[in-house]
Amino acid sequence: MLSPSSSEAVIRRLYQITQDYKQGFDHQITELIRMGLTRFNLDIGILSHIEGKHYVIDHCVVPDGLELHQGDKFNFDSTYCAITCKAKAPVAIEHMGEDDRYASHPAYQEFGLESYIGIPICFEDEVYGTLNFSSAIPYSRKFADVDIDALQLMASWIEVELIRRKQEQQLEDLNRKLKFQAYYDSLTNIPNRRGMFQHMMKELKRLNRSNSKGSLSLLDIDFFKKVNDTYGHSVGDAVLKEVATKISDALREYDYVARLGGEEFVIWFPDADDSANLEACRRIMESIGTIEQLPEPLTVSIGSCQLDCKNCNTIDAAEVLAELLEKADQALYHAKAAGRNRLVRYEDIVETQNEY
Ligand code: GH3
Ligand code: MG
Ligand code: MG
Repeated sequence: MLSPSSSEAVIRRLYQITQDYKQGFDHQITELIRMGLTRFNLDIGILSHIEGKHYVIDHCVVPDGLELHQGDKFNFDSTYCAITCKAKAPVAIEHMGEDDRYASHPAYQEFGLESYIGIPICFEDEVYGTLNFSSAIPYSRKFADVDIDALQLMASWIEVELIRRKQEQQLEDLNRKLKFQAYYDSLTNIPNRRGMFQHMMKELKRLNRSNSKGSLSLLDIDFFKKVNDTYGHSVGDAVLKEVATKISDALREYDYVARLGGEEFVIWFPDADDSANLEACRRIMESIGTIEQLPEPLTVSIGSCQLDCKNCNTIDAAEVLAELLEKADQALYHAKAAGRNRLVRYEDIVETQNEY
């Protein structure tokens, strides 16, 4: 005889399962199915979903030796799920083989399960699938209203959880999108100034810890205003995108590029010799010269500067970054003043000034 408080037992167990959210949804569903198997004294428990004409197993708990796994697909029409979904209500059958309605159903013909209790699971106003419990052995008693109550409680929990998980996913997607918008440039899809700052703070701290060196370059397109004025803003945008691509393609995996603003890019070369960085800059200039959007070759000017953390003690990363950007900007200014389409190193300017 079933205890009249069996629904309370289900509620208590569902509460425990809800509290167990840290173990993940898969664990929670498996525990819920286990609870159902104990509650109904059956040995096959399944949460399924409908995918077109297929019945797909989301989660199942089955006896040893029964080959049924997550992801297994069956023809929907030949499952008990089809009966339950058509009924749009809980279905409970104690002895399928002796049931006038179902003895000839393809599901019985195919699987031969004698006892079955199942309920449709709805999600976003549509039937998502079913929660069902079954066995190859006929049921030893009649299914009662309290059994249906218990099944409905379990189904409600799953429905609420499906909605909650979808909303959680939407929030995560939105967060990812917002984060991307905050740290990436929407035109070129490379990091923006804020993204660069975040990356460089980490990089400079790492450089300091490892006593290594790096170099920073500012790249500015020459006469870009003329590109806009002559060919229009949308061609200018396409050129900016192409320049970002050319720079990215010319870099090594651990180098870094960001759009600082307008037609100015910052490139960071960590842990490499100055000569290797200069070589990379030359490659970039050459590659940008091959951009096909314009009839005449596009040129850029670059200002570079070095950072050597060999003898650094603790550094203020933000201060060091500001200093690097300032030095590279001075070098860029010299490159522009000397006629553009060239690369100038800050260290060379200082050396020249010291000669006087
Ligand atoms: P210089 O050789 O001295 O660098 O000359 P310049 O014309 O490149 O420099 P200037 O700073 O005078 O002009 C930069 C131009 O870049 C002006 C601005 O309209 C354009 N610009 C900035 N952001 C964008 C953008 O997102 N799209 C387009 N199409 N143009 C942009
Ligand atoms: Mg420019
Ligand atoms: Mg500029």
